[in-house]
Amino acid sequence: MTYIITNPCVGTCDTACVEVCPVDCIHGPDNPEGSGAEAKKAGFDATGKQLFINPEECIDCGACEPECPVDAIYDEDEVPEEYRGSIAENYSFFGQDAPA
Ligand code: SF4
Ligand code: SF4
Repeated sequence: MTYIITNPCVGTCDTACVEVCPVDCIHGPDNPEGSGAEAKKAGFDATGKQLFINPEECIDCGACEPECPVDAIYDEDEVPEEYRGSIAENYSFFGQDAPA
């Protein structure tokens, strides 16, 4: 199980979630190997971008969810229908297959 970042992050991408993640598993926006914290420090241009959570690293603590100003973060099982496409997108960003 993992948390998933969905479409509303695109264009907001303010890294508020990155601040609270205890395992620094929120990555991107362009680099699956780089942490969101590093991206923030580098002053990345968030226009049209979003961050992603590595499903293999997320410990399902839920700390990030209430921090998001645009309600983009959901437990994988609770992603609303209109954002379900973000699940596969999130997994594939890290070269992983989404659960069937
Ligand atoms: S649920 Fe916890 S571990 Fe997973 S991305 Fe959010 S803050 Fe990080
Ligand atoms: S807090 Fe929300 S909008 Fe900001 S980067 Fe995280 S998921 Fe995206």
